Amino acid sequence: MNDSERRETRRRLLQLAGSGAVVGLAGCLNIGADPTPPVQRPEDWCLDVLEGEVPESEATAPSIDGLERADEDELQSKSNAGYECGARDGAQCGNCTFYIADRNGDAIGACTEVAGQIRSADWCALWQPREKLAGDE
Ligand code: SF4
Repeated sequence: MNDSERRETRRRLLQLAGSGAVVGLAGCLNIGADPTPPVQRPEDWCLDVLEGEVPESEATAPSIDGLERADEDELQSKSNAGYECGARDGAQCGNCTFYIADRNGDAIGACTEVAGQIRSADWCALWQPREKLAGDE
C-alpha cells in the first residue's frame, strides 16, 4: 500500500466514523451491550413458595367478590387447575373473582377453588374476571 492508498483508506475510515457506521459495527459486535443475562427460572418456580398451609384467617374468608371457599376436599389441585407462576394476558389471581386476599401480611392469599396458598400475580385455567372489573367493561 503506497502513501496515497493509505491516505485514502484513512479518509474512508474517518467518513465511516462520522456517518455512524462505526456505531452499527459496535452493535454487531455487541460492544456496549448489557452483559447481564436475563434471569432464567423454571416455569414452576413459585410452587415452592406456596407449599405452606393456608392460614385459618384466609381459609374461612370470602373471595374478593364475596364467594365462599369450597370445602377442602373439593378444592382443585394446582396441577389440575393448570396453575402457572405469573399472569397470562393480564389475567391473574389478583383480578380473579375466586381470589381470597392476603390477611396475615405475608403477601400471599388463597382461592375459593384451588388448594393451597395462592399468589395474586399467578394464574390458572379456572380464572374468571372479578365482577367489579367485568362490570366496568
Ligand atoms: S386464577 Fe385460579 S388460582 Fe387464581 S384465584 Fe382464580 S381460580 Fe384461584
